[in-house]
Amino acid sequence: MKDIVSPICPLANQCSFYQQSKSYMPAVSKPLRDEYCLADNSRCACRAILTQLGLEWVPLHMMPYQHEWAEQILTDIANSHVPLEAAAPAGVL
Ligand code: SF4
Repeated sequence: MKDIVSPICPLANQCSFYQQSKSYMPAVSKPLRDEYCLADNSRCACRAILTQLGLEWVPLHMMPYQHEWAEQILTDIANSHVPLEAAAPAGVL
């Protein structure tokens, strides 16, 4: 019988990385899922954007370790001085 491991990250149900991680390049995604989603989500780049901006701002193929990319998105939005609703990607919010 296969072990079923529940994600420790409460954002797993809405996270595209987690949702795709079982079918997307398992050799790459499994160690990341084990390290971030099932152990310590506090260092996750996807989580930073999800919690601060929302699901629609997380790039589809962002990996949990891409902190510089996440920081750039957060900085760009913070420096835009545009209300979040107006700065949202087309077709969202
Ligand atoms: S990738 Fe990050 S936000 Fe998504 S489920 Fe894993 S720890 Fe949570």
